[in-house]
Parts: sequence; C-alpha cells; structure tokens
Amino acid sequence: TQYGEKPDIIREKSAALYEKAKSYFPGGVNSPVRAFKSVYGTPLFIEKGDGCYLWDADGNKFVDFCASWGPLILGHNHPKVREKVVEVMQNGMSFGAPTALENELAELIISNNQYIQKIRFTSSGTEAVMSALRLARGVTGRDKIIKFEGCYHGHSDSLLVKAGSGLVTFGETSSAGIPKSFAAETIVVPLNDRDAVTKAFEQFKNEIAAVIIEPIPANNGLLLQDKEYLEFLREITRSNSALLIFDEVISGFRVGFEGASGYYGIQPDIITYGKIIGGGLPVGAYASSGEIMSHISPEGGVYQAGTLSGNPVAMAAGIAQLTELLKSGFYKELNAKTAEFAESIQRYASAKNYKLKVFQIGSIFWISFTDKDKIQSADDVDAAGMEKFKVLHRELLNRGIYFGPSGYEVGFISSEHNKTELEKVKRSIFEALDIVF
Ligand code: PLP
Repeated sequence: TQYGEKPDIIREKSAALYEKAKSYFPGGVNSPVRAFKSVYGTPLFIEKGDGCYLWDADGNKFVDFCASWGPLILGHNHPKVREKVVEVMQNGMSFGAPTALENELAELIISNNQYIQKIRFTSSGTEAVMSALRLARGVTGRDKIIKFEGCYHGHSDSLLVKAGSGLVTFGETSSAGIPKSFAAETIVVPLNDRDAVTKAFEQFKNEIAAVIIEPIPANNGLLLQDKEYLEFLREITRSNSALLIFDEVISGFRVGFEGASGYYGIQPDIITYGKIIGGGLPVGAYASSGEIMSHISPEGGVYQAGTLSGNPVAMAAGIAQLTELLKSGFYKELNAKTAEFAESIQRYASAKNYKLKVFQIGSIFWISFTDKDKIQSADDVDAAGMEKFKVLHRELLNRGIYFGPSGYEVGFISSEHNKTELEKVKRSIFEALDIVF
C-alpha cells in the first residue's frame, strides 16, 4: 500500500517473525505496548542498534527516538558500555554474592546525588517501586497510598489502579486479576489538583503511608507539573507524617544526574530508579536516607531480595554509562540539542497553524495534537489526537524514523543524535506533519 508520498516500508521478515511469536507469546510479545496495537502495521523485529540508529529484520534503518523506552541515553551499543560489559563477563555472569562492582555503582550514584544516602539494587523498575512502597508501609505502619491518574509505576498489584471520574477514586482496577482489597489501598487522584490530595488526607487521616508520583510524569504523554505543586506534595506529606516517593525510573539520570529531585530542588523521602541506571541491562534501585533504608532486611524488618540483584554484568553496564554522564557539559549539550529540536518542530507547526504542541524537558519530548499550552493532567490529554499520531507514526517509519508505537509515549534523544541527523529528521517530521494535517 502506498500512503502519502512515501511507500510503506517492507515488513516481510518482521511480519513472519511476528506470526511465529504469536504462537509462543500472548499477543506475540513479552511486553504489551511493543505489539503496535495503536499504530499501523505489524511490530518491527529489531536486529541491531548502533549509536542513534536501529535496523530491523528487513534491513530498514531508522533514527531511534524510543531508546528502549528510555535507558539508552548514550545511544545503542555505546563502545564504553559494551567494552566494560565484555570485560566483566569474562569472569562469569552471576554469583549470588556481593561483588566490588555493586560498591562501585553505588558510590558513583550516591557521591553525586545529594538526595540519597543509601541504595538497594533490584532488577527492574517495577521491583524498585514495589519495594519502595513496602518500605514506606513498613516505616509508617500505614497501608494506603496515593497515586496519580496517568502515572505509571510498573505492574505490581497495588499500582495498576486507575482513577475514574470524580475527586478521589479508589478500588477501581485497570487490570484484571487485582484483588479488590489491594486496590482499596490505592487512592487515585488527578495530577495538578491540590484539593484532591488534601481531601484524601482528610478522609484517610493517619492511614496514608505515602504519596507516589513521577515528578516528571512521562507515561501519559509528558504532563509537566509546576514546581509549586511538587512542593505542595512535599509539604502535605510531611505535615501528615506520610512519605513522598519520587518515581524517577524515567527522570532519574535523564534530566540531570540528580534527576527530577535535582531539577526541582526537592528532597523526597524515597527515590526509585530504573532504565538509565542499568545502561541497557536490567537494573532498578530504590534509595533514601540511611535511617529509612535501615528498615530494609537484613538490617530491618522489611523484606526484599533478588537472585540477580546487583548482577555484576548489569552493574558494569551501569557504571560505564553513568561515568559518561558525569563528564563535564554532558547534560548541557544534550538538553540544549533537545530543546532546539522541539522548538523547531513547534515553530514549523505554529507557522502552518497545525494543532500541535511539543512539550520538552531535558532530553525528553512529546508531540501532542492539542492547542493547549499546558497539559498537566491525564484528563487534559486529547484522545482524539491519537488518530493523528497513528498517521504520524506511519509516515515517520516510512521516512526512517522510529518513535515508540503509542501517542502516549514520550521520545528520547541521546548523546549520539548528532546535529546533522537531527536536521534531516526535522525535515522528515515537517513532511510527515504536512500529510497528517
Ligand atoms: N516507573 C516508571 C515511571 C516507569 O516509566 C516504568 C516503566 O516504564 C516503571 C516504573 C517500571 O519499570 P520496569 O518496566 O523496568 O519494570
């Protein structure tokens, strides 16, 4: 089929692999959004990544803005990361015993982050957040948590709860298989709404263990909050003896080495990490003060463990990646490049009167089909715009540009996206937008 001015990319090998995958995996994938459900065509099976590029099974080459959903801030297959991983692998893959590499990664993180004193490594962001909540419950002796509509915190039971309409909704699950009793412990409120949080604290006085938020919500589009709102959450949690958890699985090491905490200058009680921290291998972490972390087993009574936690190969990838991020000027250059990219797209769209806004922070951006200048809650996201995203996604693939296959997902720019390539990408985006509108 021919769409717009460009023919559709060949997906024969990907399609064949997908057919096979469907006989092995539910929906043909091992994580749902990969299935290209809300965009055109079958999922692309990836063969190789290098720098800012991806190649699929049919040999199509793309400039990648998905970055494995965030971890790859140095692009694909960065030589420093690869070399360190290969070096460490020579000595074996896993020991289930401490290694010096865990100390090395922890020291790199803690000595460059004023918001944390102690850390515990896990193997995913989901585990990190799940454990952070257990810790908050263990420390406060309370059961309920407040989360925000549109914030994603991994797939543990008590966090797969969404808000219905209304001020404070609880007990409504967005996934089957979650006990009502678990869901009842999760109070869901809209983002950017002080009253909702205040009311929840009034209604459940002395019952709320923690408020958890993505300080830079990036799982329902990019819903940038005002600093004052985050400060309000800091105050209300403190005055109610509840903990404030910043889920920095995306924002951590992304908007700066100290993540959103450093960006806004706000001290949460617990911070969770994932994605970038592992350099592309499975690492998550949760971190806090020495006092709060002393509640974790074997020091304290909150149990949490992992066969592969602190895995040496994964630690090596994290060490190599984070070392690069600490080099002088790293974030300044990356963030400026992303801002310029986002502004150019915005200028083009505005000049053509297209209903489109590009939101950006650090090296994260989100193209939204809206005319609102600010989108700060899930309710404000224009669902109708997702049809336009679908067309944009197809037109971009046909022009060699890979975006995550959902209009609710953000894009990431890496240090390997050079200016020449970004210029070409911009022109392709302009072309694609002319077709979309
Ligand atoms: N928290 C946030 C903010 C995330 O974006 C994600 C994943 O996208 C998670 C937690 C879960 O992390 P993982 O997919 O590594 O389990």
